Amino acid sequence: MRILTSETQEKVGQTVELMGWVATRRDHGKLIFLDLRDRSGIIQMVVTPKSPAYETASTLRSEWVISVKGEIKARPEAMVNKDIKTGTVEISVSEIEVLNPSVNPPFPLETDGHDIGEENRLKYRYLDLRRPRLQYNIKLRSQFVQKVREYLFSQGFTEIETPYFTSTTPEGSRDFVVPSRMYPGQFFALPQSPQQYKQLLMVGGFERYFQMARCFRDEDLRADRGFEHTQVDVEISFVKREDVMEIIEGMMTTVVEAMGKTIRQKPFPRFTYAEAMAKYGADKFDMRTEEEKAKGILAFAWVTDFPFFERTKEAPPAGGWTFTHNPFSMPAPEHLEWHLKGEQIEKIITQQYDLVCNGFEVGGGSIRAHKPEILKATFKTMGYSEEQIQKEFGHMLEAFSFGAPPHGGIALGIERLIMILTGESYLREVQAFPQTAKGHPSVMNAPTPISAERLKEYGLKLDEKPKAK
Ligand code: ASP
Repeated sequence: MRILTSETQEKVGQTVELMGWVATRRDHGKLIFLDLRDRSGIIQMVVTPKSPAYETASTLRSEWVISVKGEIKARPEAMVNKDIKTGTVEISVSEIEVLNPSVNPPFPLETDGHDIGEENRLKYRYLDLRRPRLQYNIKLRSQFVQKVREYLFSQGFTEIETPYFTSTTPEGSRDFVVPSRMYPGQFFALPQSPQQYKQLLMVGGFERYFQMARCFRDEDLRADRGFEHTQVDVEISFVKREDVMEIIEGMMTTVVEAMGKTIRQKPFPRFTYAEAMAKYGADKFDMRTEEEKAKGILAFAWVTDFPFFERTKEAPPAGGWTFTHNPFSMPAPEHLEWHLKGEQIEKIITQQYDLVCNGFEVGGGSIRAHKPEILKATFKTMGYSEEQIQKEFGHMLEAFSFGAPPHGGIALGIERLIMILTGESYLREVQAFPQTAKGHPSVMNAPTPISAERLKEYGLKLDEKPKAK
């Protein structure tokens, strides 16, 4: 018959049972005050010396798990606690059962936690998660994902998972690789994105795909970057650039407004890459005034017409050109001729679109090259030999030769969006178990060396001793 602390206000006068954690215990003369925390919030409880629970109450410490029975009483008007949602009531405790005691937590849980060292917070992430700020962030993320799903389902999308054990997909980062036991000395790559699979789903006739896709990228960690992140990954057949932008704009508007947010400008303003660079000196920018920032307003904008290629800083593949955004993109129709002939490379514009919000790039996508010769021309421009193209992308070229529909898509970074919606500055504040800045996971010890026998199974030999973390 357990009820939640959030349900107490409507049950004044009733005797109820609550379960949760002791947030604090304060002894005031003879009275013991307990704050009980559950998933819905906090409530104050009072234990008088006459209560049969008094003795147990006097032994309680922070973070003990208890079950409590007591009567819900209205607090006098003058004593309403405005700091908590249940501040108009309190529980007069008659019974307490200790479900599990706790050792002393390594850091306080009632603060926002910003002042606690990251390594320590992530080592005890399961405790850190109990703090109200993280409960809020992680629940808001779940709400966002639910609303995105609802919207996409309402538009006829199908949610489809794609493999993690796969081969490389170029997104401009390094791959994480997994050794194969069945094929010693050979490796899978974890996907930097489901890019190729989602396009193959278009060839497979699904027309409207989405997935909450986990992406793995071995890159330097930053405030808004981890080894793993999740994207709302979308791909649609028989569309033009405008159609994809319209669907995504509709989705973002519906979702964030349902979550109580205000959008600065609708429809979202659009800038070409050249206009954005001229106006803001960057392709991601913040259009809000100080006042709008204070109000938490969301300033979305689209950026389009990016150059397809830029000069490489390094080989391989030797060639001198690499893609700016996505090698699977389609060039602008008026530049298709140049693209196929490999001419005027620096002038070729891609049908790529980025979604910007409050200074972050929160999404990006493109209309794709759905004909083999167009995709082939992209890799040729990037200096790939015919043989390399066949080896690395032959499966895509072949798939496109079986009547691939015209298609395009986008991916939106969930963590960045949730950072914006919650006002957080670090990706780790919106992931339940993020990597530390030093590149190891929360709570667990990894990476770790593996035994000589297992190395042998994988056909691997180590040159160097494992480095200390
Ligand atoms: N695969 C791209 C990315 O991860 C997004 C897309 O073009 O759909 O950035």
